[in-house]
Amino acid sequence: MRDLRTLPKAHLHLHLEAAMRPSTMAELAAAAGVPVPSTSGYEDFTGFSQRYQGLIAVFGRRENILRVLDEAVEDAAAEGAVHVEFGGAPLYHASVFGSAEAALVAMLEQAAQSSARHGVSVGLMPTLNRMADPEAMVETALLAAKYAGQGVVGLGLANDERGFPPEPFAASFAIAKEAGLLSTPHAGELDGPSSVRGALGALQADRILHGVRAVEDADLLAELAERGTCLDVCPTSNLLLGVVGSLAEHPLPRLLEAGVRCSINADDPTLFGPGLLEEYELCRSTLGLSDQQLATCAWSSVECSAAPEEVKQRSRSAIEAWLASPPVPGGEALDQADQADQAAAQVVRA
Ligand SMILES: [Zn+2]
Repeated sequence: MRDLRTLPKAHLHLHLEAAMRPSTMAELAAAAGVPVPSTSGYEDFTGFSQRYQGLIAVFGRRENILRVLDEAVEDAAAEGAVHVEFGGAPLYHASVFGSAEAALVAMLEQAAQSSARHGVSVGLMPTLNRMADPEAMVETALLAAKYAGQGVVGLGLANDERGFPPEPFAASFAIAKEAGLLSTPHAGELDGPSSVRGALGALQADRILHGVRAVEDADLLAELAERGTCLDVCPTSNLLLGVVGSLAEHPLPRLLEAGVRCSINADDPTLFGPGLLEEYELCRSTLGLSDQQLATCAWSSVECSAAPEEVKQRSRSAIEAWLASPPVPGGEALDQADQADQAAAQVVRA
């Protein structure tokens, strides 16, 4: 088996607050004199969402938020990421920084510093709350657009999909696209194919965070494959929020077989457990993805990101070299499996 740590990859579906190290969370909670937030024990998305809000409560001070960002970039580098795009809502931290714009500017400055320090390119995706008034969210879209080219790379849309479809946010995403940002909404997680269609149509999605329930509709799968839209898939998140009954049932292999581009991600590691590298390892051990398929996912993550062109070129060569390297002893069986399914596997695209 080849070492997945050395496979260059981009982390495209990672929420900033839930990228916090558990040790940092404990330290910040102690410093703030509040209990360490519970990260488990939720039964559904609503409970999960409450846990997420509990994480935000430990930040309190600007230096804590910036520290978490820096540590998350350091962790990404250690997992073999060459590029990270953080989802985040500047509004969450407006009171600490004075305004949502001040929060975003501080995060962008930290992202640039952390990028240089850890050798990983970093982008921010301000994320709209789909349960909020769509008209009120336009302000966040305008803020994101203002900082396009200065570290903001996309516009996201998150929270409970049930009853909150993508379409009402079309105006915000039109602003983002006009500014040259990627459209990167969540869809196809708690809601089915209709939400993926809404993201593709009304929001002109370049990538879809999750999107896995597209597997329920063969025509939609064909459309995603035809468009080359990347699904930023998070297997453990889907398991713990009940989107799939078991990891073994996760649709990632079926999505890949249908020719849909997919990246592998951790979503909220503070709450779900596995980080980026562990998710790749789970895809190998539990879903049976071959090294060819894992390399294809890694290349999709890099190519469909907003990483600088130089990072993409370098990563492409390194991914091809990784795949061409001999598996370490003990990986013969997997290597044979690789050869067997090479005909069916997608290749790293030009
Ligand atoms: Zn997410």
